[in-house]
Amino acid sequence: MKTAPDQNNQLLQYLGDILPPDAILTAKEDLRPYECDGLTAYRHIPLAVVLPTTIEQVQLIMKTCSRLKVPVVARGAGTGLSGGALPHEEGIILSLARFNQILDIDTRNLTARVQPGVRNLAISQAVDHLGLFYAPDPSSQIACSIGGNVAENSGGVHCLKYGLTVHNVLEIQLVTIDGELMTIGNDRLDTPGYDLLALMTGSEGMLGVVVEVLVKLTVKPDVVQVLMAAFDEVNDAGDAVAAIISKGIIPAGLEMMDNPAIRAAEDFIHAGYPLEAGAILLCELDGSEDEVNEQAAKVTAILKKYRAGSIHVAKTASERARLWAGRKSAFPAVGRISPDYYCMDGTIPRKHLAHVLQKINDFSQQYDLGVANVFHAGDGNLHPLILYDANRPGELEKAERFGADILELCVKVGGSITGEHGVGHEKLDSMCVQFGEAELEVFHAVKRAFDPDELLNPGKAVPTLHRCAELGAMHVHHGQLSHPELPRF
Ligand SMILES: Cc1cc2nc3c(=O)[nH]c(=O)nc-3n(C[C@H](O)[C@H](O)[C@H](O)COP(=O)(O)OP(=O)(O)OC[C@H]3O[C@@H](n4cnc5c(N)ncnc54)[C@H](O)[C@@H]3O)c2cc1C
Repeated sequence: MKTAPDQNNQLLQYLGDILPPDAILTAKEDLRPYECDGLTAYRHIPLAVVLPTTIEQVQLIMKTCSRLKVPVVARGAGTGLSGGALPHEEGIILSLARFNQILDIDTRNLTARVQPGVRNLAISQAVDHLGLFYAPDPSSQIACSIGGNVAENSGGVHCLKYGLTVHNVLEIQLVTIDGELMTIGNDRLDTPGYDLLALMTGSEGMLGVVVEVLVKLTVKPDVVQVLMAAFDEVNDAGDAVAAIISKGIIPAGLEMMDNPAIRAAEDFIHAGYPLEAGAILLCELDGSEDEVNEQAAKVTAILKKYRAGSIHVAKTASERARLWAGRKSAFPAVGRISPDYYCMDGTIPRKHLAHVLQKINDFSQQYDLGVANVFHAGDGNLHPLILYDANRPGELEKAERFGADILELCVKVGGSITGEHGVGHEKLDSMCVQFGEAELEVFHAVKRAFDPDELLNPGKAVPTLHRCAELGAMHVHHGQLSHPELPRF
């Protein structure tokens, strides 16, 4: 995989035959913006960044890199939080930023055909006047690309009811490392053969480069209501979440923030959050007027049962938007109160929310690092934001150990080490806790089937068996490890 200087020259010469000069970046100052993604703790400068505009160019770039054995890292908007788009120092970044067109909107089939560099929010904006929207809404939706969403199987506030990216994508066009163009999936309910669309969704740029996406559009509901409940105790909020879902109510969104997150977001956005609350729940209900009224009555009763001190119903669309803006800005808001923060992403069964929160607080004291908690609570997806200062020697490493402990706890209670941000570079070691040798072998076999020379995003998402052995990491069987403090259900 080593690229000698004359091979680099050869690579640049070939790339120059495929692309115009303004589509190849090689100067240090031009490469710098691509050195990391949203996980800024890790940085590498690539050999070059290429910015193709056509599928044919992508095919030729892939063929060239395959022939010269040059690593290729696809990049959307670079908002990933697990170092998935972290460059390879001996490879190129293949940016899809110029694939930014919505190609077709089909109101009869409720689909949109888009290029991978289209921003997530741009799809909903383009179909808003038709009474439609694209449901998966990561908090980064103003910037992140649909290609990145497919590669990470991204989620968001509305995924509890409307599904993740994998449930809202019907077909993709993919270029393999050999430069072949493949169509995967279609707009019918089922197809023969293996479900490659599910395999590709969440494959983190390891199996191919997505160059076109057919997404599902959803009809906007008649009525939307957002309730904000404030609790003194975080545990009560956690238990209320489990109780709402166990009653068969699936809110359009059910999100939770603890006090440090509430304070940071309120200070930043002025959303109207109660500053003294131990936790708030934001619950969005949607549907017909009758459905929403019926669900709101049930949810309110549950919130009261779990000691919600106040329940506020947003009165206008702009107030609803403000309540959500606070939640969606929680990460940058926390960035204002700490020099650095490390955003974790794990999932747990909802019934363990209260216990896991307590343990995260214990870890916070053990490591002497603050933490603010933001959750897609309805689907048990945690985002503890660990506060640290990278300029203080040893703090980054401490934050990483704190994060690894949280992820191990997630696995111990029957959850997983990622809910939506992917494994990328960040969580390779934690994969050794989540999976045993047999599963990892299968992952490697799938990778080799698509990319025998391991040129696509090498070294990401799946750890080597050697690395797991070296770590001596213990594979924890899903939720089976006896955990003395774990409440029994
Ligand atoms: C403030 C903030 C809030 C966030 N909130 C959420 C959230 O609520 N939910 C959530 O799921 N995520 C969230 N994220 C994480 C991130 O935005 C998502 O993972 C998003 O899908 C990444 O898209 P991107 O275009 O930025 O991809 P990038 O960061 O550029 O790339 C991500 C991965 O996808 C691969 N990739 C990118 N494009 C392609 C392509 N066309 N073909 C093949 N592989 C490709 C890359 O190689 C990399 O492995 C948040 C991030 C930030 C900074």
